[in-house]
Amino acid sequence: MEFVLAEQERLVQETARDFAQKVLLPRAPRADDDPEFGRQTVELLRRHEYLGIMIPEEYGGGGMSCVEAVLATEQMARACLSSAAILGAHNLAVYCLLLMGDAQQKQQYLPQLASGQRIGAFALTEANAGSDVVNLSTTAARAGDDYVINGCKQFITNGGIAGLVVVFAVTDRSQGGRGISAFLVETEKPGFSIGKEENKMGIRGTSTGQVNFDNCHVPAANRLGKEGDGFKLAMMVLDRARPSVGAQALGVAQAALDMAVQYAKERVVFGQPLSEIQTTRFALADMATRLEAARLLVYRAATFAAAGTGRFSKDSSMAKLFASETAHFVVDQALQIHGGYGYMKEYPIERLYRDQRILEIYEGTSEIQRLVIARGILQ
Ligand SMILES: Cc1cc2nc3c(=O)[nH]c(=O)nc-3n(C[C@H](O)[C@H](O)[C@H](O)COP(=O)(O)OP(=O)(O)OC[C@H]3O[C@@H](n4cnc5c(N)ncnc54)[C@H](O)[C@@H]3O)c2cc1C
Repeated sequence: MEFVLAEQERLVQETARDFAQKVLLPRAPRADDDPEFGRQTVELLRRHEYLGIMIPEEYGGGGMSCVEAVLATEQMARACLSSAAILGAHNLAVYCLLLMGDAQQKQQYLPQLASGQRIGAFALTEANAGSDVVNLSTTAARAGDDYVINGCKQFITNGGIAGLVVVFAVTDRSQGGRGISAFLVETEKPGFSIGKEENKMGIRGTSTGQVNFDNCHVPAANRLGKEGDGFKLAMMVLDRARPSVGAQALGVAQAALDMAVQYAKERVVFGQPLSEIQTTRFALADMATRLEAARLLVYRAATFAAAGTGRFSKDSSMAKLFASETAHFVVDQALQIHGGYGYMKEYPIERLYRDQRILEIYEGTSEIQRLVIARGILQ
């Protein structure tokens, strides 16, 4: 059993840490109120060749393994969760192509996603289909060589900036989950439009919004997999992507722990540094211990995802569940250590407190992760 990173993994981690600390961290506070933040982040990710990390080299990407991508994501989230979330949503579209794209689709779109010519988005959620994903209203009706898509997707990360959206739509209502199909939609297509942009609590540097399909014609050649493969594809993608959400949680939690340690050493109360008080020490010890436990689960799940074999839904959900709830705990404790100052916007822990909350919601809520884990252990 190995608990040390391989040479290449350490290199990826160090390079990402350097990029994140020098480039992403100084601009992270702007995520809260700069409308250009998302587009500028994409440009930085493009310039530093992070948009293609999951894409094989033959398509112009970096060809990183799942483990390497998780290590890079953790470092980015440690500096700026909005930036890591933009990349995470882009990679959901990349995963769709890697898992079910045919040779033509890969040839056409992976180089565009790697180069940043198109940013990816993953459009599954609707007003009445969040956790209950099978309850989709969006339809895709066959019309000759095309499908005609109608419907509205909501809460879509990168919705306002994407050039390629993977949309999930009902092709045969009578088949339930087996009647859902996935399509690659170029956002310049007539019938595609961007709807309401959400005003959010956290990760405010990301675009989260509605995307609308109004008689949007998509060539049948843009269907991913067979008709009816959409639900299966969505689940396969989420299994592989949830360790990355876990890695986002590790990054935020590590940043909060670092802030708490520094603050506890500097703040003097009752004539001594806060760090000398046993209550603070116990809090820091619990934060650090839970974080390391989460890290092991996330790296383990990423190893399974990298191997790409066997069923690892349970392990992936455990990693996402435990890491996101750990981030919540660690950031909350870190804010408490900051006292009243932690509640003020001058201190970055205030933003982390708002940012981390999404990790227990997107890519499946904590309740849904528990259902997946229970199914795994009961079968
Ligand atoms: C900032 C942000 C970004 C997002 N990005 C994307 C994206 O890029 N693409 C995309 O497709 N979606 C995206 N989402 C949507 C997200 O995945 C959903 O919000 C999430 O899956 C929950 O769905 P819902 O909001 O409809 O809540 P609901 O499904 O209505 O759930 C409400 C509550 O009920 C609980 N619940 C529901 N069903 C059960 C059950 N069977 N057992 C126990 N508890 C249950 C839930 O856990 C939750 O606590 C994003 C959401 C946000 C907020």
